[in-house]
Amino acid sequence: MSEKLQVEAIQQGTVIDHIPAGQGIRILKRLHLESAGKRITVGMNLPSQNHGLKDIIKVEGRMFTEDEAHQLALFAPSATINVIDDYEVVNKFGMQLPDTLVGVFPCPNSNCISLNEPVNSYFYISVKGEADSGDAQVKMRCKYCEKSFNKEVVVGN
Ligand SMILES: [Zn+2]
Repeated sequence: MSEKLQVEAIQQGTVIDHIPAGQGIRILKRLHLESAGKRITVGMNLPSQNHGLKDIIKVEGRMFTEDEAHQLALFAPSATINVIDDYEVVNKFGMQLPDTLVGVFPCPNSNCISLNEPVNSYFYISVKGEADSGDAQVKMRCKYCEKSFNKEVVVGN
């Protein structure tokens, strides 16, 4: 009940919940949500039952693509996506990191062949530690130069 009072209900769209506090704006920008012309509500520093404070993003009239969900998993692995239809949550799922990520972020290795060849970047993704605890370390290994990077190095903070 308290959650419903925090942010206005939407008729149809997507609610990204349990975003770590302070990450909401970054996710908006990363996914270019604000440029799609949809009505967006961002709640920041809301009380969360299990994580202290959280951010929440509501996007009306828009469903997320698989690519977007994968990118979101890199930024906010503890987040949940709620699919809303007719004011009801019709689907709810947690973030799942993809096994691979193709063509989204360039390889940080300036000597990597993928930067100079007409190929998409290609990372193998793995997680060390508890994915839900917030201190898991996500590793991304480049298919071309075979170097392994912490997620932050590839994705940014
Ligand atoms: Zn590389």
